[in-house]
Amino acid sequence: PRKGTNPTMKDPVGVYCRVRPLCRGDQESCLEVVNHTTVQLHPPDGHRVVRNGEYRETQYSFKEVFGTLVAQKELFDVVAKPLVEDLIRGRNGLLFTYGVTGSGKTHTMTGSPGDGGLLPRCLAMIFNSIGPFQAKRFVFKLDEKNGVEVQSEVEALLERQRREALPIPKTPAGKRQLDPEFADMIDVQDQPRAEEVDEDNVYVPNSRSKILREDQNHNMYVTGCTEVEVKSTEEAFEVFWKGQKKRRIANTQLNRESSRSHSVFIIKLAQAPLDADGDNVLQEKEQITLSQLSLVDLAGSERTNRTKAEGNRLREAGNINQSLMTLRTCIEVLRENQLYGTNKMVPYRDSKLTHLFKNYFDGEGKVRMIVCVNPKAEDYEESLQVLRFAEMTQ
Ligand code: ADP
Ligand code: MG
Repeated sequence: PRKGTNPTMKDPVGVYCRVRPLCRGDQESCLEVVNHTTVQLHPPDGHRVVRNGEYRETQYSFKEVFGTLVAQKELFDVVAKPLVEDLIRGRNGLLFTYGVTGSGKTHTMTGSPGDGGLLPRCLAMIFNSIGPFQAKRFVFKLDEKNGVEVQSEVEALLERQRREALPIPKTPAGKRQLDPEFADMIDVQDQPRAEEVDEDNVYVPNSRSKILREDQNHNMYVTGCTEVEVKSTEEAFEVFWKGQKKRRIANTQLNRESSRSHSVFIIKLAQAPLDADGDNVLQEKEQITLSQLSLVDLAGSERTNRTKAEGNRLREAGNINQSLMTLRTCIEVLRENQLYGTNKMVPYRDSKLTHLFKNYFDGEGKVRMIVCVNPKAEDYEESLQVLRFAEMTQ
């Protein structure tokens, strides 16, 4: 389908492409960046790409293509900065990295402490933009039995007002007290059990954890979070990188492959205005603006048969494929609705992952996706699948 000119069109799903450099040792490339919006896939010897009986055009276009030399900061400025600006204006946003294992999803989303990806850059921009405030961080995990496994999620709640930190009363134990209804909305009522928290007060996943719930306002949330209060970019980074490290260690110890799970990081911003004199924060629920930015490093999109999965592993891999399939369908339907003004039902209930983001599929907030591709010839078949999907959403 070509782009329509429906005047009611909302901001459609924006799809970007990032091409990582070849690894040392990988010599043959099957992908070429043609210009700032187009890539070309070259079938390696032995592959003939045919569709409808004809040789297939193998160029794919995107809102923007980022080549191997593009720095993390440039990617952030183009793709993520507008989402953070929206967040601060009270609007929601959702950003995915999509691609096969090894294509650079985690590099793009998380990066390393020396060369941070989009996520730490979003945190830094929020802290730098909103002045003094209080922030909390929660680490949580979805119930493995319920389909999609989210092995580690971090949720940050940042509170802000114009001049000073939002004065929320503290209990003697130092825990924050919130209006119960508000607490339900942002899910701080479910405290983790003591044994689930390690010496750094960071949540340690176990089998009893984390259920996806819906509150009376139809917002989705995950129960059982640990809070770590942070007040500056430095503190947030320390907590964040420590959490990343723990997650890697936990995955290794439990012999899990992170390529099979989705990693979800939700930044929630609650903004409260000052009264007319500028002396007091107005804390009534209706005065508070809540917005959130969800950053999702998706499971590898490779098909199950590429990994030699057996037994439980197979089921796990199957679920993940199912959730990615559902995500693909949801994005396609959403995009169709936005472009053509249709009102087709988006099947977000078909997976936990999409259910968590149902508000976005109702058309609320921007959705952005970065398709990551490794240009090595060995990945040709999988890259073809990834690019075809991206093309369908264009
Ligand atoms: P994925 O999360 O998609 O499985 P990773 O982000 O872990 O892939 O990338 C695999 C390896 O390639 C990592 O060592 C990562 O540092 C490196 N890498 C990925 N993308 C880039 C890039 N754009 N520039 C340099 N190195 C990259
Ligand atoms: Mg990864």
